Amino acid sequence: MTVVDEVCELFARRGHEAYVGEPVSQLEHGLQAAHLAEQEGASDALVVAALLHDIGHLLHKLPEDAADHGIDTRHEAIGRAWLARYCGPEVTEPIRLHVPAKRYLCATDPQYLAGLSPASTQSLRLQGGPFTAEEKAEFERNPYYRDAVTLRRWDDLAKIPNLSVPELEHYRPRLEQVLHEA
Ligand code: FE
Repeated sequence: MTVVDEVCELFARRGHEAYVGEPVSQLEHGLQAAHLAEQEGASDALVVAALLHDIGHLLHKLPEDAADHGIDTRHEAIGRAWLARYCGPEVTEPIRLHVPAKRYLCATDPQYLAGLSPASTQSLRLQGGPFTAEEKAEFERNPYYRDAVTLRRWDDLAKIPNLSVPELEHYRPRLEQVLHEA
């Protein structure tokens, strides 16, 4: 089984699971994020990062309402660790940083903070709240921080129920381009 087959199999097996607190499934959420990336002419790596940014949720075995019980699933770290076997930092860094990117945006964009969904506001607390000035400066030293912030904005928009977007198979060429067997 190739890594691309494995990704497709993961989505087939667990993609129907809820994107917790939002009216879309994990698969719908990833497909909508990838579609936004593609529409904006993002690189192959960033389109794949958008598609797979929450793959950690499909890999861990915690209950899907873990956040309701005060458990941070650290899905961004799980996803990064799994993907690091198959691709470089241009994919894994925006994924690893998509949660801190939310804390960054909450510290730098008051409208962003005000516009968070109830579920996202709840998880912000678990994630550590808005960045301090020091944390913000540190974040901006990462060469991929802009990609992470861009990915975060797609992530936040990819929650529209019953939106018609290209299917997973549409991304197979990009996945094969970006992911390589270890
Ligand atoms: Fe997400």
